[in-house]
Amino acid sequence: MTLLKSGDHVVCTDDCYGGTYRIFTKIFQEYGIDFTFVDTRDPDALAAALGPRTRLAWIETPSNPLLKIVDLRAVAALCAARGVISVVDNTFATPCLQRPLELGIDLVAHSTTKYLGGHSDVVGGALVTAREDLHARLRFAQNAVGAVPGPFDAWLVLRGLKTLPVRMERHCENGLAVARFLESHPRVERVIYPFLPSHPQAALARSQMSAGGGMVSVELQGGLAAADRFLRRLKVFTLAESLGGVESLAESPAIMTHASVPAAIRAANGLADGLVRLSVGLEHIDDLRTDLDQALTP
Ligand SMILES: *Cc1c(COP(=O)(O)O)cnc(C)c1O
Repeated sequence: MTLLKSGDHVVCTDDCYGGTYRIFTKIFQEYGIDFTFVDTRDPDALAAALGPRTRLAWIETPSNPLLKIVDLRAVAALCAARGVISVVDNTFATPCLQRPLELGIDLVAHSTTKYLGGHSDVVGGALVTAREDLHARLRFAQNAVGAVPGPFDAWLVLRGLKTLPVRMERHCENGLAVARFLESHPRVERVIYPFLPSHPQAALARSQMSAGGGMVSVELQGGLAAADRFLRRLKVFTLAESLGGVESLAESPAIMTHASVPAAIRAANGLADGLVRLSVGLEHIDDLRTDLDQALTP
C-alpha cells in the first residue's frame, strides 16, 4: 500500500484472507485509497474493474477459504497492458507449488507465519519482486515505516525454509488423501481442493501449480450445527486459526478467520456458515482419516 497515494484505486480478489479485507476496508480506505472486490476467477470481471485510477491488483490464488483459482498468466498480461502493478498473495501455495514471478506477476506476498515458518511459532511476512524500481521503493518504505523483522523472527523463518520442500510434499500428499477421503464420505456435502477432479478449475490449477497444497475446505450435511459438532469432536485436528504448520488445524471461517467480512458479502462470495477449513499437517494419514471419520460418525 506504500506504493499508492490517496485517490488511487485497487482491485482485489473477493474471496481473500479476512485480515486483508479488514486492513484494506478499515485502514487504507480511510486514507483515500479505493478498493473494488471482484471475482478474479473471471479475467473479464477483472478487466472491467480496472479503471483510469487503478494502480494495483491484489490477487489471491488459491483463495482463502474457498480455494478459487485465478489465472495468473491472464492477470499478468492484463495488468502489464494497463500499467497496473500485479500482486499475488502466494501464502497458500508457497514457492514450492506456484511461482507467480515466472508467470509475469510483479510482486509476490507471503505470510511467513504460515508454511514458510511452518511451525506456528513466528509471525512475519515477505514481499518478493524482480522489478528493480519496485524493490527500491519498497525497501525505502520498509525502513521508513519500520516493517523490519527482529533477528529471532528472521532466524525462525530461515529454520523453517530449510525443510519447506520436504514439508510441502507431505502437506500435499496428506491434503489430497484427506480431500479424497472426505469426498467419498456420505455425511459430506462438498469438498473443495484444487487438485480434485471435481474442482471446477482443476485444469487451471494444474497449469500453474505443481501440487494441490495442504488446505482443504469442506461443507458438511447439516450446515452450521454439523460443522460445530464436527469441530468439537476432532481430536488430532486442533480447533485453531492460522495454517501451514506441522500440526493439523480445523476452523470455521464464518465465525473465526472471516468473521470481519460482513455476512452478506460472505454469502455473496459463496462462503457458507457451515464451511470448515482444514490445514492438513504432517501427521500419519491413518491418524488423520480416523480422526475425521470418528468426528463425522453420528
Ligand atoms: C495468514 C494470512 C495472511 C496474513 O498473515 P499474518 O502473518 O497472520 O499477518 C495473509 N494472507 C493469507 C492468505 C494468509 O493466510
